[in-house]
Amino acid sequence: MSWSSREEAEEARERLAREIARRRAEGEPLHALTAPKSGHLCSRFWGRAWCRHLQDMTAYEGRLAPGRTCLRQGRVHDLTIQPGEVRAVVTDQTLHTTRLRIRPLKTETWSRLQQAAAASGPSLLDLLRGHLGEDLLHLLCDPDAGLFPRADEIRFDCDCTDHAEPCRHAAAVFYGVGLALDEHPEQLFVLRGTDPVHLLSEAARQSRAALGSDLPDTLVTDNLGALFGIDLDTDSRDPA
Ligand SMILES: [Zn+2]
Repeated sequence: MSWSSREEAEEARERLAREIARRRAEGEPLHALTAPKSGHLCSRFWGRAWCRHLQDMTAYEGRLAPGRTCLRQGRVHDLTIQPGEVRAVVTDQTLHTTRLRIRPLKTETWSRLQQAAAASGPSLLDLLRGHLGEDLLHLLCDPDAGLFPRADEIRFDCDCTDHAEPCRHAAAVFYGVGLALDEHPEQLFVLRGTDPVHLLSEAARQSRAALGSDLPDTLVTDNLGALFGIDLDTDSRDPA
């Protein structure tokens, strides 16, 4: 790197640091997602399943790896998941506001999954841990007919000048969802506009009856881990 390039890089770093400090002073947390520097990004079932789904999406071949690196470097901040939308702020030369828009799960797909879950009969805890029978697991993780979004159900939106679909910032957020699902697997259902309680309605009714009557009818906005005291331990049965 030449002397002038080093100076420019140093100036860019200082500009970025000033911008981060300014926005934090204005109240933005800019809390960075913590990702492993190497090895598997995720350690639990749904996070790993999300990452495997991304890696199998041929529509984005060659576009996702830069995002994974960006995430490992701690550049994804304040990631939030809402029905049909993921938002985050990604640092690069400057701060970028990045959004993924994901269509709700189709009603017929959801109905099919509900029927399969009813036949299989796992508990809510088993669903969130990914401790499910092979047939139901296969169906829930099916790239075309399961819970994960297909490429034609996703839109990327970033304020950078890279017109690639996705840009590396959006790809970083895409992978960041996997990290979020490691901690809060119920957010996969939130993202797809569904509710795990409705997928496992009988099991959920039994859980509510056992735990008392103060539980809400819907759980999509709650932290299920805290609500049920669930220990979402690492799934040692998943080798990926
Ligand atoms: Zn971008």
